[in-house]
Amino acid sequence: MAKIIKLDDALANKIAAGEVVERPASIVKELVENSLDAGSTHILIEIEEGGLSSLRVVDNGEGIPEADVETAFLRHATSKIKTDRDLFQIKSLGFRGEALPSIASVSHLTLQTSTGEGAGVELRLEGGVIKHKKAAPARKGTDITVTNLFYNTPARLKYVKTVHTEAGNISDIVNRLALAHPDVAFECYHNQKEMLKTAGNGDLKQVVAAIYGRNVARSMRPFSGESLDYTIEGYAGLPELTRASRQYMSIFVNGRFIRNYALARAIQDGYHTLLPIGRYPIAVVAISMDPQLIDVNVHPAKLEVRLSKEEELGELLTKTIRAIWQKEQLIPAADLNR
Ligand code: ADP
Ligand code: MG
Repeated sequence: MAKIIKLDDALANKIAAGEVVERPASIVKELVENSLDAGSTHILIEIEEGGLSSLRVVDNGEGIPEADVETAFLRHATSKIKTDRDLFQIKSLGFRGEALPSIASVSHLTLQTSTGEGAGVELRLEGGVIKHKKAAPARKGTDITVTNLFYNTPARLKYVKTVHTEAGNISDIVNRLALAHPDVAFECYHNQKEMLKTAGNGDLKQVVAAIYGRNVARSMRPFSGESLDYTIEGYAGLPELTRASRQYMSIFVNGRFIRNYALARAIQDGYHTLLPIGRYPIAVVAISMDPQLIDVNVHPAKLEVRLSKEEELGELLTKTIRAIWQKEQLIPAADLNR
């Protein structure tokens, strides 16, 4: 008798969920990235009890056509790539078609969506199983509420930390998404308390002020630069404005937050000898490049990406940030070529 069987969809999704949706913050990330991919200009995020009691993302994006609503919850179902070629020039944040089925398989999920034409539709799933599908208001956009998270995966639930820690993780994720998209208005509430509100007017400094406070924003200097393959722009904090952690250097590539040690290092080098040992600057760097030069396909959490010509980019970053401090006469010009 054969011993190998093909897992049914529900079980396969639950296993995949272990990778894609580790904790409430990863769900917020996936849902908001979907909202961004849908061209939203306003995204509302409402969290209760660190996302454990409920987590809701409402956007004004393009919505999901009624005919696609159920397909969206099938594994590897996506509207974002079609061919091999697309995979090597990803312009969207998502492309795996794994988030919705994964999230739905470990929670109770209600989705209301409308393309703005004709009636909207509401879909309710419990543990990935569709419970109902009915008409909903024709408000353009998508509204997803997730409750009873990890109710059917007790080990995962145990792994989730306190409400406070999970709320902090969600806040970090939302802050990054807002920094990467100053042209989108973000509103985020935890237990009805405002955590973040941005104007969505494209002004990155305003987003920096909303996240780090006005004083920090006032001590940030704008920069921009370009090389053959890259364009960079952003804000760098004055050298006296340091932190004890590297995590205040936020790096985005084509609107996607990344972690990259070499690039963080390149930012620090931009301060020449101005940073005290063990202290790191506050900086926000938005990098634009041809999507063909990035490989985002490395890991589902997608924080690490591979960049070709990373050295060229590092040099550009260092040079551009150094030029600010030279102009402010914090670094003597003679030191610059060292
Ligand atoms: P992916 O984002 O990798 O395509 P998801 O499972 O996150 O996969 O979503 C599946 C599909 O559902 C998306 O490709 C998109 O077509 C649709 N979708 C999900 N969320 C939204 C949203 N907020 N607005 C519009 N369409 C959405
Ligand atoms: Mg997605």
